[in-house]
Amino acid sequence: MNAEIITVGDELLIGQTVDTNSAWLGTELNRIGIWVSRRTAVGDRADAIRAALDEAFTRVDLVIMTGGLGPTKDDITKKTLCEYFECGYRQDEAVLQHLTQLFSKRGRRLLEINKIQADLPEACSTLMNQMGTAPGMWFDRNGKVLVSMPGVPYEMKHITETEVLPRIREHFTLPSIVHRTLTVINIPESALSKELEPWEQQLPSDIKLAYLPQLNTIRLRLTASGADKRALEAHMDPFWNELLTQCKPYLLAAADTSAVAHCAQAFMNSGTTLSLAESCTGGNIAHLFTLIPGVSSIFLGGVVAYANSLKTSLLGVPHALIAEHGAVSGPVVAAMAEGIRAKTGSDYAIATSGIAGPGGGTDKKPVGTVWIAVASKQETRAQKWHFYGTREHIIERATNTACYQLLTFITDTA
Ligand code: ATP
Repeated sequence: MNAEIITVGDELLIGQTVDTNSAWLGTELNRIGIWVSRRTAVGDRADAIRAALDEAFTRVDLVIMTGGLGPTKDDITKKTLCEYFECGYRQDEAVLQHLTQLFSKRGRRLLEINKIQADLPEACSTLMNQMGTAPGMWFDRNGKVLVSMPGVPYEMKHITETEVLPRIREHFTLPSIVHRTLTVINIPESALSKELEPWEQQLPSDIKLAYLPQLNTIRLRLTASGADKRALEAHMDPFWNELLTQCKPYLLAAADTSAVAHCAQAFMNSGTTLSLAESCTGGNIAHLFTLIPGVSSIFLGGVVAYANSLKTSLLGVPHALIAEHGAVSGPVVAAMAEGIRAKTGSDYAIATSGIAGPGGGTDKKPVGTVWIAVASKQETRAQKWHFYGTREHIIERATNTACYQLLTFITDTA
């Protein structure tokens, strides 16, 4: 079954807000067997909203709309939908009660402008919004369903999870969709597709392969849809297993994940601890680890040692070693990793040192040269990498690769 998403708001068209709602909705709808076949963004104009709805309903039976439900004058979605479905307003008692409680809890007076949020088109049923003031609306006309929700992402997500998805499941007969995704690293898309060509040629037409590249990682997704989920899983198994085998030399994870998240999860599973000594990544690895809930159980901390003097004073890297090899070198990055591991007592440590550019490169060490070391109590290994792209890209690529190198080190030395 197909659905379309319409997002409303001038801010989406002028680039002030990035439309993350559609991406999230696309994933959630897909999980329950619905393909989003088109996304449309329109400004805060009644004629644009009406035209988008008319067009979408010629193609699909389900349209999800977000935005424009606030109490201010520029929020015109509710009024437009009232006209579109040719109905008047009704006051929703449950919404009014929710608003009264919400405002009293926040110690604020409920103004007339806020009470208007409880006036809803007679043609819709209410989708309660426990996280905010604007309720969602469910319209059903001749089997065609329109869902309208506020644009605020966390409110939209809450309404979708608690109200919209259960109703969609009840209302429509949905097929099963099976996705399997793996993530590879440091192989160009073109080279990978060449390697996978023979395998891809044997793929049955009802299993689709998608390449989703992202800097130096690529997600490979297999998808099949049908009535019986178990049969689909069994049908996909041999092709998935063969794909895993073919991708083994570059495999970061047999899942749709980021390098840092995968690494953190592996450490949380094993209960081993990690510390970091970052030069060219400037704390980016630490930052990304810190974003993961529960990571404090395994991530002890780290040092951003950008200046050579700090590499010596904080991490104990001998001055003579830096003078002999330069800061961007195997011996120095190895000493950084050993230094931070010794200071923190962690089981493992990562260190990075490189030239993120755009200046600072030489013939011997061009921009993009990054040394990464991993240290454990028993062993230290340093490896040189060459990345390309902007300064930010090089930092991101080095971050992903550091996690990959760490996981490979652990597997190799286990
Ligand atoms: P509110 O009651 O808060 O006014 P609303 O339904 O009127 O809700 P909007 O005014 O359209 O929503 O947007 C509220 C906030 O949500 C804004 O900060 C806007 O940038 C953000 N937002 C709106 N649409 C999207 C979207 N598609 N993706 C991500 N953020 C969005």
